[in-house]
Amino acid sequence: MPSLYIDGTWTSGSGDPAEVINPFDASVIETVEQAGPDDVERAVAAARTAFDDGPWPRTPAAERADLLRRVADLLVRDKEDIARTETLDTGKTLVESRIDVDDVTAVFRYYADLAAHDAGRLVDTGKPSVVSRVVHEPVGVCALITPWNYPLLQLSWKVAPALAAGNTVVIKPSEVTPLTSVMLVRLLEEAGAPPGVVNILLGDGRSVGAPLTEHPGVDMVSFTGGLATGQAIMRAAAGTVKRVAVELGGKNPNIVFADTDFETVVDNALTAVFLHAGQVCSAGARLIVEDSLHDDLVAEIGRRAERIRLGNGLDEATESGPLVSAAHRAKIEDYVASAQAEGARLVAGGRRPEEPDLQKGFFYRPTVFADCRRDMRVVREETFGPILTVERFTTEEEAIALGNDTDYGLSGAVWTNDSGRAERVARALRHGTVWINDFGPYVPGAEWGGFKRSGNGRELGPTGLAEYQEHKHIWHNTEPAPARWFTSGGAR
Ligand code: NAP
Repeated sequence: MPSLYIDGTWTSGSGDPAEVINPFDASVIETVEQAGPDDVERAVAAARTAFDDGPWPRTPAAERADLLRRVADLLVRDKEDIARTETLDTGKTLVESRIDVDDVTAVFRYYADLAAHDAGRLVDTGKPSVVSRVVHEPVGVCALITPWNYPLLQLSWKVAPALAAGNTVVIKPSEVTPLTSVMLVRLLEEAGAPPGVVNILLGDGRSVGAPLTEHPGVDMVSFTGGLATGQAIMRAAAGTVKRVAVELGGKNPNIVFADTDFETVVDNALTAVFLHAGQVCSAGARLIVEDSLHDDLVAEIGRRAERIRLGNGLDEATESGPLVSAAHRAKIEDYVASAQAEGARLVAGGRRPEEPDLQKGFFYRPTVFADCRRDMRVVREETFGPILTVERFTTEEEAIALGNDTDYGLSGAVWTNDSGRAERVARALRHGTVWINDFGPYVPGAEWGGFKRSGNGRELGPTGLAEYQEHKHIWHNTEPAPARWFTSGGAR
């Protein structure tokens, strides 16, 4: 089946086909067609024409909202099928994939509601004869480039607000996990997206992503992925001064004070870092623990980490799936070796699993390191895998300093029963999301994004819609008259 969608038609790509691999057992799920340079040109041209001459940007916002609601209904209809495909493609558990589909549905509904009521604003000029208003218009053709860890979810955070605002889009999912992005485009087609409004190109970053970021026909790039790629995209986009929104990595502190309930914090610290095998941008990979609690907490987390059940994401008994690829596992093994070489103490994991049925897949045991210092590579860099590092502190100031001692600034958490302290620490942390006595939840109505090198954009919430809008000021003088600024020529 053709896997590229350009100008309202499913089409074959001129690039080399690629095998999509199931990380549980390295089997081939599907062979997909990929785009070549001519497909990139065709997709941008289709999106350009649909934006410049087509009905979509000029469709009333309420009608665009209707399309998003129809997509939400179709996601509900196909939830099981999509969730299963996401699990096959990424390795995550079916429970997680189902939650992803629910969240994606909620995002489409949220932006449908928001767009329908997004009327811009009037500005009081103090002049009765002037109407000054700020109207919201779409940016134009948006390239949406997404990563492999939450393929469908990350795409929905972009495509729903981009379409709600009236843009046309060219989607470039990760070559590693493209399947559910194709499914979503099929739903957008079924819901009635006009030709050229939504296009999808499969292929790798070098041959499909990069040309989109440089293309003069693309007005905006919205990217989620790693820091180095984000930097390359910002450089590439500078040539045409396109708008760039980048959502990048994180190295997220999880700060625990000793007055917290022990069982609650053990349980949540494990989930914070080991969910989806740690392949989460907001993973709580840096546990920062008050001295008096440190030894007990490390021992219990290590004991529980050793018992996490790895397996097939489709098996309901599985608690964590594999890493996404052999190459990614090799990166994780390199981080483990570097942590040991730099003197971190291995408390749990640090190895591949022994079970015979896990040998074909890209599994790695949840790993815990104590005695970590902030100068260690494993503490400073985003490993994006099942590795927890533990540091310790004695004072609140020290906890804050440690939590902020990172180039990243995506998310963090503080655990304490002292609400005054919780608020102080939450305000002092330089991260885009801070949880107090929790880790991980988000809602479509609240902004998501990073400080510092975690990115420059915001997704979700009203700002997530504004990313895809030009805010144009229209000044309407209803009683025009000569200004009489230059009077030397005399008035006629
Ligand atoms: P990645 O390697 O940076 O790739 C992301 C996307 O960019 C892929 O589609 C990739 O294509 C494409 N790409 C690669 N080089 C490109 C180029 N020169 N020009 C344009 N596109 C290019 O990231 P990943 O490994 O897929 O994802 C993991 C990263 O995403 C982590 O750092 C994680 O923290 C981050 N992330 C951040 C958030 C957030 O909300 N801030 C959410 C999820 C993930 P191919 O891979 O197909 O070649």
